[in-house]
Amino acid sequence: MAQTDSHYQELAVPGVRALQPYQPGKPVAELERDYGIRNAIKLASNENPLGPGPLAIAAAQAALGEITRYPESSGYRLTERLARKHAVSPACITLGNGSNDVLDMIARVFLGPGSEAVFSRHAFAVYPIVVQAVGATARVADPHDGTRGPVYGHDLAAMLALVGKDTRVVFVANPNNPTGTWLAADELREFVGNLPEHVVVVVDEAYFEYVAQPEYPDTVQWLSDCPGLVVTRTFSKAYGLAGLRAGYAVSSPVVAELLNRVRHPFNVNSIAQAAALAALDDTAYLEKTIRLNQEGMQQLVSGISGLGLSWTDSAGNFVMIDSGRSAAGIYEGLLREGVIVRPVANYGLPQHLRVTVGLPEENARFLRALEKVLA
Ligand code: PMP
Repeated sequence: MAQTDSHYQELAVPGVRALQPYQPGKPVAELERDYGIRNAIKLASNENPLGPGPLAIAAAQAALGEITRYPESSGYRLTERLARKHAVSPACITLGNGSNDVLDMIARVFLGPGSEAVFSRHAFAVYPIVVQAVGATARVADPHDGTRGPVYGHDLAAMLALVGKDTRVVFVANPNNPTGTWLAADELREFVGNLPEHVVVVVDEAYFEYVAQPEYPDTVQWLSDCPGLVVTRTFSKAYGLAGLRAGYAVSSPVVAELLNRVRHPFNVNSIAQAAALAALDDTAYLEKTIRLNQEGMQQLVSGISGLGLSWTDSAGNFVMIDSGRSAAGIYEGLLREGVIVRPVANYGLPQHLRVTVGLPEENARFLRALEKVLA
C-alpha cells in the first residue's frame, strides 16, 4: 500500500517532525566534485590542521589487527587513563562516540516531554537538536549585547532567569562554538552554585586545550562540590582525532551510571579507544598544536582587521568574522576559490562566517581569497 511522504512525517514523534538536522562543514571531496576544482582547503569544522599525532597513528595502526573483535565496551584502559588525568574515580567517566554522543545521552537521561533545557542563543547547534529530539522544550537565553559581557557570549544572568521548576538541563559551552566566547571561573562557578538541585549543568569544554586565558576554569575540579555538574571533553579538536569519534563526560558517579544506562554498547570503537589513549601521552603534539593555533589566530585576526572587518575574540581554534552584510555570497565566493569556511546563518548569525585556524599557508590562502571575494 503506497503512502505519501507526509504520512510518514506524521508518524514521527513530535520533536523529530520539527527538527532541523545538523549542518556539517562541506567536505573537501564534495567541493572538488561539485565545483570541478582541486587543492581545496577546509577551515570549516574546527579540526586540527596538523593531522593526527604520531603516537595516535601508531596506536590506531596497531589496533587494526584486533578489529574482528568487538571493542571492550567499558573502554577500560581509556577510562582508567582519563580518571587518572582528571584525578577522579573511573566511575566518573562516560565515554562517547565524540562528545556529541554524550550530549545526546544527557538529553535521553534527563529530558523528555514536559521538561525544559536552557542554553544561550548562538550556542553549539547540537543542544537544540538533542533537546527537541526527546520532546523536551528549549528555553533560549539572549546572549550579551556587549554592555556587560562580550557580544554574543553567554549571559549567565539571562540563562539563570530562564531556569524554572521544569528545567532539568542547562548547557554551557565554554568556549562556545561558533562565537569563540568564553566564561571566567568566578562567574561560571557562581552560576553553577546558583542553580537549583533539580538541574544538571553541562559544561561543554570541547576546546579546553586551546584556551590560554588565565581566568578560564578547569571545572572538573568543582565536581566534588557540584554533584549536578557534567563536564564534556573531546578528542576531536586539539587531539586531532575527529574522524575516529571519541569524547567523554566527567561527572559524579551517580550521573555517570545513569548516562551509561543509555550508552550504546561498543559506542567507542577499538581503534578510537587505542588512539585516544595514546594521544593523551603525546604532549609534544599537543604543545605544537597549541603553539600553531596561537600563531595562526594572530595571523588570521591581523589579516581580518587589515581587510577592515571585525571579529569576535575567540578562545578556541576558530574565529567568527562579521562581514557586515549577508555572508552567503562571501561563503560561495570563497568556495569558488577552493576555501571552505562555515556560514553560521543557521546559528542566527547571517552576517558572520566562522573560520578554523589552519596551517600558516592555509590561513594566508584564506585571507587572499577573502580579499579577492570582498573586492
Ligand atoms: N561541543 C562543541 C562546542 C563543539 O564545537 C563540538 C564540535 N563541533 C562538539 C561539542 C562535538 O564534537 P565531537 O562530537 O567531535 O566531540
